[in-house]
Amino acid sequence: MISEEVVEKYLKAGSIASRVRREAESLVKPGVSLVELTEAIESRIMELGGQPAFPVNISINDVAAHYTPMPGDQSMIPDSSVVKIDIGVHVDGYIADTATTVTLNPAYEPLLESAEKALESALKVIGNGVPVNYVGKAIEDSIRMRGFKPIRNLTGHSIDRFIIHSGVSIPNYNDYRAKHKLVDGVYAIEPFATNGEGLVKDSPTIAIYSLRGAPRPRDELLKKLWETYKTLPFCLRWLSKTLESIDSAQRALKELTTHGRIHTYPVLVEASGGLVSQYEHTVLINGREVITTTI
Ligand code: MN
Ligand code: MN
Repeated sequence: MISEEVVEKYLKAGSIASRVRREAESLVKPGVSLVELTEAIESRIMELGGQPAFPVNISINDVAAHYTPMPGDQSMIPDSSVVKIDIGVHVDGYIADTATTVTLNPAYEPLLESAEKALESALKVIGNGVPVNYVGKAIEDSIRMRGFKPIRNLTGHSIDRFIIHSGVSIPNYNDYRAKHKLVDGVYAIEPFATNGEGLVKDSPTIAIYSLRGAPRPRDELLKKLWETYKTLPFCLRWLSKTLESIDSAQRALKELTTHGRIHTYPVLVEASGGLVSQYEHTVLINGREVITTTI
């Protein structure tokens, strides 16, 4: 069982995340700067008493995940695009992970709806003892019924304190190899739908990083990163605020990456260039009780 005190913290993180997600939806307009949008969301999280659990991801059109604006990024929300906003909030390390998709082009509504309904179907089947591929089947059926494909190599995930992906993956299709059964714990469920082939691949761009574990004590920069983020993801935009300059932050990240001291998250794009929609909620399973923390 998860203690009441911990449940409270997950619920607080969840209510901040869902509130900020709703507010973010109304800020998505063509021509809005991605830096401004991201920073508005991140400051709102802190204003409401949470901390960002990872840099806000803003992934547009065929970009599925892991993009966060660089410092001084000139990109804007393009006309008639499909915009995914993925938000993480933690309270004392207890994380809520939630995402939504916005489009200002009505032609893409069915693509959005397919992932949104898939998330609803997944939440209906979730419970203690349920095999993860049942959840994947609910997602896949719901997306295919509406004429789209689930993205097979992106998954939901179990969550632990300060750990965004703690080992269990929840497939977005009926993956017979995925035999794990859900137990007490916290899980992010995140269907992705596409009009492309249903796979993502790495792009050469890297915007998000995380530490692999506690650093050796003599490494000053890693120590500082560890104190702030533990193994939670961070980005250049954040570091350039605490290190002297963007240049020195960039040099530090490059050096750490070259030496394999940090984990990188390449920006993921749909392999055939298809448009991608995503919805995500975090659920907490505690005995027979299943609470969606990000509604
Ligand atoms: Mn997410
Ligand atoms: Mn997630």
